[in-house]
Amino acid sequence: MKSVDAHLAEILATVRPLAPLELDLEQVLGATLAEDVSSPVPLPPFDNSAMDGYAVRAEDLSEIPVTLPVIDDVAAGSTELRAVGPGHAVRIMTGAPLPAGADTVVPVEWTDGGTVSVRIDRRAEAGNAIRRAGEDVQAGDVVLGAGTVIRPAQLGIIAGVGRRRVLARPRPRVVVLSTGAELVEPGSPLATGQIWESNSYTLTAAVREAGAEGYRAGSVADDPAELLDRLDTHLVRADAIITSGGVSMGAYEPVKEALSPLGTVRFEKVAMQPGMPQGFGVLGDDQVPIFALPGNPVSSFVSFVLFVRPALDKMRGLPSGMPELVTARAAGPLRSPSGRRSFLRGALAPDGTVTPVHGQGSHQLAALAVADALIVVPEEVTEVAAGATVEVIKL
Ligand code: AMP
Ligand code: MG
Repeated sequence: MKSVDAHLAEILATVRPLAPLELDLEQVLGATLAEDVSSPVPLPPFDNSAMDGYAVRAEDLSEIPVTLPVIDDVAAGSTELRAVGPGHAVRIMTGAPLPAGADTVVPVEWTDGGTVSVRIDRRAEAGNAIRRAGEDVQAGDVVLGAGTVIRPAQLGIIAGVGRRRVLARPRPRVVVLSTGAELVEPGSPLATGQIWESNSYTLTAAVREAGAEGYRAGSVADDPAELLDRLDTHLVRADAIITSGGVSMGAYEPVKEALSPLGTVRFEKVAMQPGMPQGFGVLGDDQVPIFALPGNPVSSFVSFVLFVRPALDKMRGLPSGMPELVTARAAGPLRSPSGRRSFLRGALAPDGTVTPVHGQGSHQLAALAVADALIVVPEEVTEVAAGATVEVIKL
């Protein structure tokens, strides 16, 4: 059997970061920046008021209270500004440019709020409530480096430095297709021998949570020809494909039957539990990676965490490898088969202990749904004593 590490290594050696594209602001959320973004101007671009109030000369506030004539009104966006002479005040709004002559802003709360003249009750020091040009960013400063994932705040600064488009690796488009003659769409009634299809929902959601675009392509019955046809349809718009089911040792294994003859997808046993049968390879002229995951719901989910997610990280141009392991204490004894790495579904407690959830079968989706960790038990370990230190992957 192939080791988990060898399987992941082969996958990571095959998948490549997606080529960067010029992406519009509207499309770039979740993409990975492939250039350094700098600001063409200082930010703020000009000295402006941090508050609603009055722009004055600090020297005119030596005696408090003082009443000054209001000679102008400047709103944010004002372009024609009258200079503030000695003994004058200008009513000013947050974000409005500071008029020449003024060196301080008195917040409206410290005044009577007058519009013809204003009584100022409290002294403001020179520089009060003024946001200086370049205080956030100097012209030419790099505000985001290549390799940064664009989240809301990063999107904000890209817009804030005036860029409409940036060079970025897009979110990988991942098509998810289930196989199985027994599968029925949730919402439709079950007949004898049928189950509701869940893997495509789990996997598409996992794809989205991993920062990629998930397209749920539904399910196909156990017919290799139909499967090939469906894959062909989706190949044009996919950066990666995930299938579930049809890869084990039985008869009617459509994924294995359809893809083995192509010679570009390998089906192997990986020394893990759950999730032993795994297929991986590439399809079509564009060598689109395909992950043929086992059908049992827990197996396909664990396979996603171990193999697909790191591959998506790599496609996004991010550091990729085994999911991060943290240590916990086993709340009770654990058992694991010899020669296979186990990923037991566990619940973490605030005191740092982890308890396996009830129901460790690879079909037991309800147990997975109450777990928040995978307890990793190495290949050579068959028993773990209560209280022993274990490594876990947080879900
Ligand atoms: P397979 O790998 O196709 O032999 O499927 C293994 C087990 O997982 C069988 O019990 C299937 O019914 C079940 N299964 C396969 N695909 C799905 C799916 N998309 N949703 C829920 N269960 C599935
Ligand atoms: Mg099947």
